[in-house]
Amino acid sequence: MHILIIEDDIDLGPAILAALKQAGMTGVWVRRLGDAAAFVEEQPDCVLLDLGLPDGDGLAFLAGLRGRGIAVPVIVITARTALEDRLVGLDGGADDFLVKPVIMAELISRVGAVVRRSARQAGERWTFGELALEPRSFRAWLNGAALDLSPREFRLLVELARSPECVVSKSTLGQRMEPLGDPLDSATMEVHLSNLRRKIGAGRIRTVRGVGYQLVVGEGA
Ligand code: CA
Repeated sequence: MHILIIEDDIDLGPAILAALKQAGMTGVWVRRLGDAAAFVEEQPDCVLLDLGLPDGDGLAFLAGLRGRGIAVPVIVITARTALEDRLVGLDGGADDFLVKPVIMAELISRVGAVVRRSARQAGERWTFGELALEPRSFRAWLNGAALDLSPREFRLLVELARSPECVVSKSTLGQRMEPLGDPLDSATMEVHLSNLRRKIGAGRIRTVRGVGYQLVVGEGA
């Protein structure tokens, strides 16, 4: 297992690296978000992410990863203990949380758990008739042919597909799309939905006027 550690604390970073090595894993430690990008490309099995970093906020970095469709498991390591921060992090795409001071045995066990869980979910596929999608690998198919969806189109589809045939309100959808910032505005959402309809078939997403949108998976699609 190969782990990317993004942590600016010059004591904690090497301590985590040593603990991972002792547990039979490999790792690389960087102190700045700017240095992390190149190592993300190496497709680590897990990222350990501090929130307060010299060149930016860890949660914004995480949102950027997810926005680009990068599904690597991420454990946020934070000194912030507020429950709100934890919830924001999980909504923003973190797989787990560790609060400082870090207990190394716990860290090793959490890393193992998220890597196993992500491997299990990697092959998870949702099928709705001719439409299929894999939430973790950011891939979707129509009649077996791979769909070329933008990250936002894909996320809209996943959010609607979580509860097929149910109407998801515009405001809920907007908030789920941008959990760390301003909700996706209605006009922009319409544009993405219109592109998504063009790719998956117009009948698959129904507009319920004044309420929201619904993924149609039955005969009507
Ligand atoms: Ca820090």
